[in-house]
Amino acid sequence: MTRVYNFSAGPAVLPQEVLQQAAEEMLDWHGSGMSVMEMSHRGKEFISIYEAAERDLRELLAVPANYRILFLQGGGIGENAIVPMNLVGRKSQPATADFVHTGSWSGKSIKEAKKYCNVNVAASSETEKFAFIPPRETWKLSKDAAYVHICTNETIDGVEFQYTPEVGDVPLVADMSSHILSRVVDVSKYGVIFGGAQKNIGPAGLTIAIVRDDLIGHALSICPSAFDWKLVAENQSMYNTPPTYGIYIAGLVFQWLKRQGGVPAMEQRNIAKAALLYDYLDSTGFYSNRIAKDCRSRMNVPFYLKDESLNEAFLAGAKERNLLQLKGHKSVGGMRASIYNAMPIEGVQALVDYLKDFEKKHG
Ligand code: PMP
Repeated sequence: MTRVYNFSAGPAVLPQEVLQQAAEEMLDWHGSGMSVMEMSHRGKEFISIYEAAERDLRELLAVPANYRILFLQGGGIGENAIVPMNLVGRKSQPATADFVHTGSWSGKSIKEAKKYCNVNVAASSETEKFAFIPPRETWKLSKDAAYVHICTNETIDGVEFQYTPEVGDVPLVADMSSHILSRVVDVSKYGVIFGGAQKNIGPAGLTIAIVRDDLIGHALSICPSAFDWKLVAENQSMYNTPPTYGIYIAGLVFQWLKRQGGVPAMEQRNIAKAALLYDYLDSTGFYSNRIAKDCRSRMNVPFYLKDESLNEAFLAGAKERNLLQLKGHKSVGGMRASIYNAMPIEGVQALVDYLKDFEKKHG
């Protein structure tokens, strides 16, 4: 068996230990005589899996008691509609939500929210090709916004908030799809944190939302019941059938993370991995990363070859070394290395070694 170094932006690499455990438990989970996929979500076996996953995630992120963890479906894109449908009802209609436009994903959130409320783009780096995050002091927040939305890690553009912006009493909503659990965050500074699972958590199909209690119970009447946070919370994420297998794998990833020393230890590794790659990219004129240094993502590292006619040769050579999925998103071109929690530093080192060798050959 050859396991490759998979730099995909998502679905993405998962810890090998987790995959092995899932394989071992596939046919007979803990003597139940069935796989987790075949279990009733209301049976005691699955309930125990769900409860452990919820408890471990709460511990890993130090989620305060006045927040609910919801296991949903619909992905990050689903949340772009689910969030306004649940939050704008707290204000007289039509309500306004503030957005900071820092890349493709916050852009998608803006577009979707316009179906449910007025959108104020409080700040944008679009004209500068999203090469930085507009500093907080430049944001033009509205007076009575229902919420402020940010994407704390832009998966395509490679910018990441390195701090939590202050927005007063207005609930701060963060799309953390592509960096949740990669760094320590103070959950109490947010009203809502959401993310699709398929980068740092588990398989696609599971979406996690962490919602402060007082923001639950205001859904617009048009909100589908399966996405009304009140119904979901009251039913322990089992108002409808939850993505049971995704929750199970996520739970195994949470246990793995705890064995690694939790989020603080993982953050230190992520800092080291990102530094290894960015330092090399910065040291050469052959490759470049165009993002302002204080806004660079530790998870998604876009880079360009100076001579873009070498792109295909670069990707082919990488494949020969089992370094896969390095092609940049089609909207921005170039290359992108996603180095999530489950990417070991050896994988990043193998990539840097390849970058050097390729440069030697073609530089
Ligand atoms: N937000 C961010 C930051 C993402 O990276 C992605 C997926 N790449 C999404 C939202 C959309 O997620 P999904 O495809 O699960 O709806």
